[in-house]
Amino acid sequence: MGGDPASRWDAPGLGILMVSVKKSAYMKKWIASNGDKIRACRRKYWHSNKAFRDRCAILSKKWLAENRQHWYATVKNYLIRVRKQVIDSYGGECVCCKEKNYGFLTIEHLKHDAKNDRKGQKLYAWLLKNGCPKDRYTILCMNCNWATRNGKICPHKQINT
Ligand SMILES: [Zn+2]
Ligand SMILES: [Zn+2]
Repeated sequence: MGGDPASRWDAPGLGILMVSVKKSAYMKKWIASNGDKIRACRRKYWHSNKAFRDRCAILSKKWLAENRQHWYATVKNYLIRVRKQVIDSYGGECVCCKEKNYGFLTIEHLKHDAKNDRKGQKLYAWLLKNGCPKDRYTILCMNCNWATRNGKICPHKQINT
């Protein structure tokens, strides 16, 4: 194989080329040591070729239509995994009543700034990325979370009379 293989990345039929190229041990080694070059070439190809972009968009749309259930399941599993990781890092139980069932546990905003903190579903991913700050968030179960809204004291903490 002669010449600089990088020049061939500009050729049409990139997908087919990639598949056949990745099979050879020589190319595997070359790809491993020229990752940046390849990425730059692909980026260039991507930006300069609208037909290619359109084809990719159609293909990914088609793939999503055919694999919708699979894709949803993947996203759902990812969200469950992230949620579990975050809850575990906050101790894995309600700080008030020690409830351990993941289904009941939720993030509690210690500063009660949930309204200003519009992260919604993304909150768990955000927490994980930011090392789960313990000064602003903690874990409560739904019961304790509801019972302590508007600064009220949880019945668990009130003396039974
Ligand atoms: Zn609780
Ligand atoms: Zn409680």
